[in-house]
Amino acid sequence: MERKIDELEGSPNGTLFIALGQMHGNEPAGTKALKKVFEMLRLNIEEDKGFGIAGKIVGLVGNIPAADAGFRFLDEDLNRMWTSERILPIKTPHYATDDLNREERELLALEEAIVEEIRSYPAKDLFIFDIHTTTANGGSFSIPIPKPEAQRVANTLQVPVIHGLSGSLQGTLIQYAAHNPWKVETASLAFEAGQHESPQAISVAISAIIQAMMALDILNKHPLSGKKRLEGQPSLPLNSKIVYRHRIKEGDEFVMKPGYRNFMPIKRGEELARDKNGPIHSPYTGLILMPLYQAQGEDGFFIVVEESA
Ligand SMILES: [Zn+2]
Repeated sequence: MERKIDELEGSPNGTLFIALGQMHGNEPAGTKALKKVFEMLRLNIEEDKGFGIAGKIVGLVGNIPAADAGFRFLDEDLNRMWTSERILPIKTPHYATDDLNREERELLALEEAIVEEIRSYPAKDLFIFDIHTTTANGGSFSIPIPKPEAQRVANTLQVPVIHGLSGSLQGTLIQYAAHNPWKVETASLAFEAGQHESPQAISVAISAIIQAMMALDILNKHPLSGKKRLEGQPSLPLNSKIVYRHRIKEGDEFVMKPGYRNFMPIKRGEELARDKNGPIHSPYTGLILMPLYQAQGEDGFFIVVEESA
């Protein structure tokens, strides 16, 4: 698998839009959606003289060896390593690459790929759109960083917006990017498109990528005009806040009880999972998010509550 999925450059000094698939190798929906989006945009450019791109659009694969192997990660979770403490030392030239684990090498290579994009296109700002899927069924949502531009774009995606999660997960790319590490104003969000294997996750991701580019004025026309738009989920709370995160430690033997879906209501005291210490009860009444149904991962589940407007 190649790092770059595709790219399209329009007028200069616009927004550089970098979209990522497979930061987790077992989440191919983002990569597939990006391929489709570029196909669609090229077709529109060919067929419609009035269709234009302002800025530059780049699609990248996050974790190539994990994607090739079909695992979330090989040695450690690539989306928990984005901190200056991890990145700066391995960027120094005297650091022997042989000493790096496979995700450290990916961290280095992906960071360099992003820097290269910034170097080659003089952008007014950068937007990072990081596409994921979940092990559980039950809908899509977005996780913007707490910057107005990220929240503004998230609010146009017609899926629930989860607040407070980007800050509680240390070492994610979107969180790292929030501090403008590349000397360009950067906004970012993670987009959870749906369940890993569901074909719907791909179409939801396609619509969301296009909608984000519309919101950022990168596209002057909707390439799916009148045809297929994002299917909203109006019954779900559109703005939710994280109140709880269940962390899994090495050797916990965490097992989620079957049947939970994203945004399923749960009651305080409800048994949600078990580990070697016995049953795990919900500390809150709220909605469950990202219940873990795979072996790899540090977070068992999250609980969100609806935010009052
Ligand atoms: Zn993921």
